[in-house]
Amino acid sequence: MKLSFLGTRGYTEITTRRHRRHSAMIVGYDGHRVMVDCGEDWMGRVQALHPHAIVLTHAHPDHAWGLQAGAPCPVFATRESWAHLPYEIADRRIVVPRRPVRIAGITFEAFPVEHSTRAPAVGYRVTAGGLAIFYVPDLVYIYERHAALSGVRLYVGDGATVTRPLVRRRGRTLIGHTPMRTQLGWCQKEGVPGAIFTHCGTEVITADERRLGARLRAMAQERGVAAAIAHDGLSLTLRA
Ligand SMILES: [Zn+2]
Ligand SMILES: [Zn+2]
Repeated sequence: MKLSFLGTRGYTEITTRRHRRHSAMIVGYDGHRVMVDCGEDWMGRVQALHPHAIVLTHAHPDHAWGLQAGAPCPVFATRESWAHLPYEIADRRIVVPRRPVRIAGITFEAFPVEHSTRAPAVGYRVTAGGLAIFYVPDLVYIYERHAALSGVRLYVGDGATVTRPLVRRRGRTLIGHTPMRTQLGWCQKEGVPGAIFTHCGTEVITADERRLGARLRAMAQERGVAAAIAHDGLSLTLRA
């Protein structure tokens, strides 16, 4: 399985060379390419990527609004996401949470996560060639964390903040972003050996990334996890 980080910037105006575009990733396996998320930044740039399918985590602009001019392939999202998207797609497909679906030879299983009341979000457990990863760029927490993360090789998580929670209460629910430190704790509890963070927030983008990377690695090491911060253009090949 090959992961290509096309973009790693979260919902912030600040950009750098390393974090120029909204978080999006291509999962490649056996000649197939599935794009996960397509924020505003990707408007007009999707055709050139030639994805076989696009899968969306939620309807926020930085994850899904790059498809306002259409898509060159089928687009998968939950019913709730489709209800919140401000555009129509010719080949729109519905993802049902906790029901794995095979997309271009790669299995995606959506797990609902707490993040937004207006744009309910999911993370995806992605399986191919006997290897599983979990992709969740925006979240407060995963409802069924154990089922989501058990046996996962790599957790691709929310890099909005390092240690300071960006969480607010709205009614009975929590919205926002949980720190990387907390997410590393989940990896430790569920036995996930590796974590990489995308959807980088201002705290990460404006930091001296070498120092921040060292701080994150130390934090992760204490929890028995290997961790890093992703950047635009990074590719990883994972083998079973
Ligand atoms: Zn976001
Ligand atoms: Zn969001």
